[in-house]
Amino acid sequence: MALGGRAAVPEPPSFDPTAEALAAARRGSVRGLCPECFGRLFGRLGHGLANPERAALLAQRLEISLPPPTAPCPGCGDTFSRLPNWVDRAVRAVEGFEWHRFTCGSRWEPEVLAREENTWLETGTEWGESARAAFNREWGKAIEARTGAAGGPDRPDIVFLADLAVGRVEFTVLPLYVRGRYRKLDRTLPQTHWPCRRCQGRGCDTCQGTGKTYPTSVEELTGVPLVEATGAEGTRFHGMGREDIDARMLGRGRPFVLELVRPRSRTLDLPEMARQIGVRSQGRVEVDTLRFAEAPDVVRVKEAAPEKSYRVGVVGVVPVAKVNEALLLAQGRAIAQRTPTRVAHRRSDRVRARRIVAARVVDSSEGGFTLEIRTEAGTYVKEWVEGDDGRTDPSLSGLVGVPLKVGYLDVLEVHDSEG
Ligand SMILES: [Zn+2]
Ligand SMILES: [Zn+2]
Repeated sequence: MALGGRAAVPEPPSFDPTAEALAAARRGSVRGLCPECFGRLFGRLGHGLANPERAALLAQRLEISLPPPTAPCPGCGDTFSRLPNWVDRAVRAVEGFEWHRFTCGSRWEPEVLAREENTWLETGTEWGESARAAFNREWGKAIEARTGAAGGPDRPDIVFLADLAVGRVEFTVLPLYVRGRYRKLDRTLPQTHWPCRRCQGRGCDTCQGTGKTYPTSVEELTGVPLVEATGAEGTRFHGMGREDIDARMLGRGRPFVLELVRPRSRTLDLPEMARQIGVRSQGRVEVDTLRFAEAPDVVRVKEAAPEKSYRVGVVGVVPVAKVNEALLLAQGRAIAQRTPTRVAHRRSDRVRARRIVAARVVDSSEGGFTLEIRTEAGTYVKEWVEGDDGRTDPSLSGLVGVPLKVGYLDVLEVHDSEG
């Protein structure tokens, strides 16, 4: 039975026990089980009935009246008759959190579950339903009825776990995901916060007690208004790649998903959040549109490998005609890039084949020129221009035969298909 949400056409109840089932029921009827546990011995027989209703129908067919259950019930230890308490515990546990969807689970003592399987064997039922599955479902239905929230496995805000032995409800608050594209208009901002290398974030003299290598980041500047509005405990920032700290991110911006950890509120005025990001970052970070996202969006953003376009200010004395000649040679061709030394601490040292899709000179002066270049994902543009002491081959510097240096670099576009 699907829990919540779906408006299925209700089937008429049906229950038609065979002679074997009735014989098993007769054996089960004398074990002092509560109506839920007795009926559940046949939980997978028929449909449209609650287990206590099955119990009543079986008693009718056997022409017996069920003996009053032993206290506590030898099947469930009265867990099912205490369902309202479990609903209270769940609702109380998450007071102060906003939630609309939830999932239920429970932790049972292994002996209880083993005893249940024994009962199935001893009575000879082939239709037993496990107490755990039944409890999770009935508890979920009762929470739905009490709160109006929707139970089920689909994108829960909260996961409840009943620890039956301890009599306590544990819960997990799932993150709230927001996605968008950011522009970074500042050449001193890292994308994510960098814990201070010396103190690992605890705070020391080097970082003046902040625990950070840089005062702030795109992650923090986009996250702060959302953290304040949701009461979240923190953020995780997932960008579709990243630009260097001293590179601006222009154009439509770079796709990202911001994960808000343990939010108390899930109601957000997203246009207002986007506005606040711009204002409160003093224009260092801009976000046009924010949308609610889901966990799979994180994977999609992390795994995408779109082409990128850059504008590069190059310093070097070389005739533009010669640069154009070199670009004609470079365009559409593969280059071999050995991991640059500047990123060797976080990337394995190997040679990657990359491609310059298109490149052209858009401006020039005596001491240099401006390049617009489109490359395959993962191309190290600075190294392609400068050569990186031969680790990138061919390089633009190598092709023109003159040492070149990148003065600045901006990302003009991330060519993904995100809306
Ligand atoms: Zn019971
Ligand atoms: Zn430090």
